[in-house]
Amino acid sequence: MTDPIIADKAHCWHPFTRQSAWCDPAHEPIMIVRAEGVWLWDEKGNHYLDGNSSIWTNIHGHCRPEIAEAIAKQAATLDHSSYLGLGHPLASELAEKLVSYFPPQTLERVFFSDNGSTAVEAALKMSLQSRMQTGEGNRTRFIAFDNAYHGDTLGAASLGGVNRFFSRFRNLGFETQFISSLETLSSVDPTTVTAVVIEPLIQGVNEMRPWPAGMLADLREWTKKHGIHLILDEVMTGFGRTGTMFACQQENVIPDFLCLAKGLTGGTVPLAATLTTAEVYNTFLGAAENAFYYGHSYTANPIGCAAALASLKIFETDKVLEGLPAKIAHLSASLEKLRATTNDIITIRQCGLIAGIEFQAGLGEKIILAARDHGLITRNILDTVVFMPPLSVTTEEIDFAVTALGVRRHVAAFPIGDMSPMKKSSDMSEHSKFKKSKDIPAH
Ligand code: PLP
Repeated sequence: MTDPIIADKAHCWHPFTRQSAWCDPAHEPIMIVRAEGVWLWDEKGNHYLDGNSSIWTNIHGHCRPEIAEAIAKQAATLDHSSYLGLGHPLASELAEKLVSYFPPQTLERVFFSDNGSTAVEAALKMSLQSRMQTGEGNRTRFIAFDNAYHGDTLGAASLGGVNRFFSRFRNLGFETQFISSLETLSSVDPTTVTAVVIEPLIQGVNEMRPWPAGMLADLREWTKKHGIHLILDEVMTGFGRTGTMFACQQENVIPDFLCLAKGLTGGTVPLAATLTTAEVYNTFLGAAENAFYYGHSYTANPIGCAAALASLKIFETDKVLEGLPAKIAHLSASLEKLRATTNDIITIRQCGLIAGIEFQAGLGEKIILAARDHGLITRNILDTVVFMPPLSVTTEEIDFAVTALGVRRHVAAFPIGDMSPMKKSSDMSEHSKFKKSKDIPAH
C-alpha cells in the first residue's frame, strides 16, 4: 500500500482546509491511528490528549468497551436496514429513551438522520411545511443570530451567521433575518416568521461565546407570544457538555424542535435526531401530500442506535452528570491559574466543560501547535483556543492539558485553513521527552 500521507495528499480532501498548504511537500500531517480514553496516538507512537473531543463528538473517552461491544454485536446482528417503510427495535428504544429526558407530552416525536446539519435541516423543513399545512403559509422566514453556526447543508448554512463561511451562499437557501441579541427582536416582523434558531447557552463556532443568563428563557417567551417555533440546536451542547444533559434544561426551556447529533453516539458513529412536539407532528398527518418527504439512506442506522443506547447507559452507570460539577470547577480553577502566569490571555469563556481561551491577536494557531509538542491536540477558532475534553476527563488530565496551553514556543507559520492545524514544530524532542516523563497522567 502507498504511504498513507502520500495517498492522502494525492486523493483526500479535508474539510475547512486550504488543500494547497495541506498538500505542500513540507507539511507533515499527524495521522491518528489509535485512541483510548481521552488519548489519541499517531503513527509514530506519540500520544496526545484529545482536547476538542474529536471535533466536539466524544463523550465517555475513546473506544469505551461497552460502546465498542454494542457496535460489534449490532454489526453482526443487523447492520442496516431501510427505515423507509420498515422499523427496527433499537430505533424504537432510542426514540423512547430520548423523549424520556423531557416532560411527558412535550418533545415526544423523534426523526432520525445522520449529522448535525441534517438534524437542523430537518427541523427547518418541518417548521416550514407545518406552516403550509396549518394555513400559515405566510410564515416563510427564519430568524438566526449573528455568528451562529448550524451546519453546512444548504438549508442549515442559510441560518449560518459566520460570514467568512457563508456569505457567498447568502442568496441561496432560506430567507433569514440575522439579529445580534434579544434587544434587536423589535426590528422583526413576527407575523412572517416561522422559527427562531439558536445554539442554546453558548455559540460554539463563534469562539465559544456564552449568552447572557436568562436569555434563552426570554427568547422562549417571545416566540410563544408570537406563535413562532423555537428550534434549539444542541448539536454541540447536548449530552452533558454544559453540565446538564441538555443546555435548555438549565433555563427550563422546552423548544418546538431539538436538534441532536455529535455526542448522541458518544462520538463513535454518525447519528442525529430531531425531536419535536405532537403539535408539529400532527400537522403532517392525514392527506398523502402532508407527509414529510425527506430522509436519508442511513436514517436510524441500527449500529448508530446501538451505540447511542450504550452511550446513554454509561451516563447512568458512571453517574456522568453527577461527576461534572467538580470537573467544571476544576477546569475554571486550572484556567485561572494559567491566566495568572501569562499576559497572552485576553479572556476565558467557559460553559460547563466547554472553554474558549482567547489569546492575544495572532497567537491562537501558535498556541495549539506548541501544545501539540506538549501532548495536547486541540483547535483554535481565530485566536480563541478551544478546550472541550471528553466528559470522562480526570482532574489530572485537565491540569495536564491546561499546562500544555501555557507553553508558547515559536512555531513556523504554515497556514492550512481558518481553523486548521499547521505544520508541526520541527523540534519534536521536547514532546518525546514529555511522553516518557512521569508528568503525563496515568491513563
Ligand atoms: N450545529 C452546531 C451548533 C454545530 O456546532 C455543528 C458542528 O460543529 C453543526 C450544527 C453541524 O454538525 P455536523 O458537522 O455534524 O453536520
